[in-house]
Amino acid sequence: MTAHQPHTRITPGLADLPTEVDMVVIGLGVTGAGVALDAVSRGLTVLAVDAHDLAFGTSRFSSKLVHGGLRYLASGQVGIAHESAVERGILMETTAPHLTRPLPSLIPLSAGVSRPMGALAGAGFLGGDLLRRAAGTSADTLPRPRRLSAAETRRLAPPLRTDGLRGAYLGWDGQLEDDARLVTTIARTAADRGAHVRTHARVVSAAGQEVVLKDELTGATATVTTRTVVNAAGVWAGDLVDDVRLRPSRGTHLVLRAGTLPGLDVAVFAPIPGETNRFVLVLPQPDGQFYVGLTDEPVDGPIPDVAEPTEVEIGFLLDVVAASFARPLRREDVVGAFAGLRPLLDSGDDSTADLSRKHAVLTSPTGIVTIVGGKLTTYRRMAEDAVDAAVGHARLTAGPCVTATLPLAGAAPRETLADRAAKAGHPGEARLVRRYGADADLALEAAVRASGWDQDQLLAPIAEGISTVWAELFFGVTHEGAADVADLLDRRTRIGLIPEDRALAVPVAEKVLEIVRGER
Ligand SMILES: Cc1cc2nc3c(=O)[nH]c(=O)nc-3n(C[C@H](O)[C@H](O)[C@H](O)COP(=O)(O)OP(=O)(O)OC[C@H]3O[C@@H](n4cnc5c(N)ncnc54)[C@H](O)[C@@H]3O)c2cc1C
Repeated sequence: MTAHQPHTRITPGLADLPTEVDMVVIGLGVTGAGVALDAVSRGLTVLAVDAHDLAFGTSRFSSKLVHGGLRYLASGQVGIAHESAVERGILMETTAPHLTRPLPSLIPLSAGVSRPMGALAGAGFLGGDLLRRAAGTSADTLPRPRRLSAAETRRLAPPLRTDGLRGAYLGWDGQLEDDARLVTTIARTAADRGAHVRTHARVVSAAGQEVVLKDELTGATATVTTRTVVNAAGVWAGDLVDDVRLRPSRGTHLVLRAGTLPGLDVAVFAPIPGETNRFVLVLPQPDGQFYVGLTDEPVDGPIPDVAEPTEVEIGFLLDVVAASFARPLRREDVVGAFAGLRPLLDSGDDSTADLSRKHAVLTSPTGIVTIVGGKLTTYRRMAEDAVDAAVGHARLTAGPCVTATLPLAGAAPRETLADRAAKAGHPGEARLVRRYGADADLALEAAVRASGWDQDQLLAPIAEGISTVWAELFFGVTHEGAADVADLLDRRTRIGLIPEDRALAVPVAEKVLEIVRGER
């Protein structure tokens, strides 16, 4: 182990790169960020890089759920289901209560849902509750499921279609404030503890103990000597090692504005006609929008930087959910759509829907450890397994994994933060508490220093109809490695999910970047 200085901030590019570290981590999606935090908290010196940005890949296009693993239970994969439920409990109760919340979910027993299908759905929620209990997660965090009457269902979900509605099953799962925010927070926690975390830094090659990097902003290159390399490049993992083959599948979500389904603040599972246990989910978001997803389409050919949803997928999602709501959802209600690629290992099977979502740790003959598969919810366990493998293979001296009890930056009990938000003197302040937890003050103070503005200016929304406040953009540049407009609008905030809003926000992001760089 070599001694290291705390770096505390994520920075773009390769300037002041260390020449020698214990571990290089390739990719800063949720998996790579998790690996960086795991390794640095065991006492290793770490350089973790992303070719583009934090959460550039799949990790920003998820359903933003912290799953209890119900789906795996249904397909008999009890081990994965239990692992998911345990990791969900760790995130919600210990490491990230500030970035997660319990999400009530309804399976409406509508005319199209037969009684046996309804009974199966109810049994599924009960199974999910058993998983919660087996994982030791409190019913205060995730309440027990129950059957609702038709009247209770209508009260809880006013936009549902009511003809033939017999009631609903109500269950609970975890929801993230935002997936990219989770990744950014994990990466910032790693940087706080001394990891070198660099955005816009591509690994060009990794062979033996030498990693060649390219600064994507300046074109400069650098070589770093390392004792081990962890490849967490998601669907691109196979580009860096010959013996890993992936078979991605595309999942698409639609974005609807808050007014589309008025009064709905629970998730709704809309059954897919002809399937017994598959649903399209309508997911209310913290900013009031809805995501509707998701699909599962095999992807052939070269892997794009950013996957695009197809009109066929958009039409399919709208058709399925239309049957559940009184007001039909139309194409013009869709103000945005996004698609992500699941990094599934190629098992030679034909279907991607049934491919195991379990993660895999593979050590190549060159010594590079690749970690793929799994999901956002289980990132911590994936990171632990990858670091164990890398430490063992390279015979490094490292402490035990501590991440199950290591709160992420800004973590505090949910009640403490709710109390703080309720007492906030300004709606913008309550928003910062929601997105940064106990680090809301840190974010605001950093923004004051970087801008020279007063707090009221920084707590104001950046544009009409957009709830992001100015302080978020400043903090994104000063502490979270954002280097350009896309980093700010598509990852540090999610304004970019609605192209119309993004167009309004571009000049704002440009102004913030210029101010921090001293160009204004
Ligand atoms: C549609 C969809 C919905 C999902 N919903 C959920 C959900 O609700 N809950 C859940 O738990 N899971 C969910 N998942 C699964 C989860 O999103 C993924 O398993 C997870 O995000 C994968 O993260 P990753 O870090 O492995 O990959 P990525 O996030 O793709 O990160 C890989 C990174 O590597 C970088 N990279 C690539 N090549 C290089 C290089 N040469 N040098 C440097 N960097 C490089 C990329 O830029 C990228 O940022 C969903 C997945 C999909 C597709």
